[in-house]
Amino acid sequence: MKYTLILLAAGEGRRMGIDKNKIFIKLHGIPIIKNVVKIFLDDQDCKHILLVTKKNEQNKIQILLNDLDNNKIKLITGGKERQNSVYNAIKALKDEKYVMIHDSVRAFITHEEIERLKQTLKNSKVALLGIPVNDTIKQVDINKNVTATIPRKELYQAQTPQAFHADILKKVQNKAYQEDFLGTDDVSLVEKFLPKEPIKMVMGSYENIKITTPIDLELGKEILKKRFRGSYEKSSID
Ligand code: C5P
Repeated sequence: MKYTLILLAAGEGRRMGIDKNKIFIKLHGIPIIKNVVKIFLDDQDCKHILLVTKKNEQNKIQILLNDLDNNKIKLITGGKERQNSVYNAIKALKDEKYVMIHDSVRAFITHEEIERLKQTLKNSKVALLGIPVNDTIKQVDINKNVTATIPRKELYQAQTPQAFHADILKKVQNKAYQEDFLGTDDVSLVEKFLPKEPIKMVMGSYENIKITTPIDLELGKEILKKRFRGSYEKSSID
């Protein structure tokens, strides 16, 4: 099942408290962006990567990815919001049937998870990775009075990749653009504009974290320790 990947990397490091894009932080000695690109290049089914970056970071990224299979990678300039970045990449889609969208800061994605999504796309037009919520979730009003406890078994935390039949993705992205609607993730546009279209939740992983704040890097170190064991001792996160 061949697919095109939209890999988002045009964000900033504000919540990380650093003045550079998080994608350049090194994990296990390798910048996050390179790590993630390598994972998808290793997947024979990933035909193209539309790598969405800031214009002024494209040279730096090109140099970083120089020793990889560059033929598969096309750099796209990002937009103001994440969804604008996705929209810019959609415009570069051609005749591909399947598209996945992934946040490059989810650096610990595995082939098993990507494979689960691919299998699901055979029978569903829209699918995403997610994990069951562990905490009890309270709804509150404007004065912070609790108004409800949402049944936990109905709640999943959305992750990426999110996967689509390309025609559906193009349709909802164009609609969102026309109506100036910003969703909180990519499948939420399907919920809004094609409410009858089924969306399949696929089991993600508690290790598929989004590197957002400094604590995520600490967690990342532990994940890497577990995955690389001995070789980890020689490497670093900096
Ligand atoms: O900022 P946040 O961590 O939510 O961003 C999620 C992903 O979207 C990151 O990989 C980031 O690089 C990307 N992004 C983007 N364009 C933006 C904002 C975020 O590609 N305008």
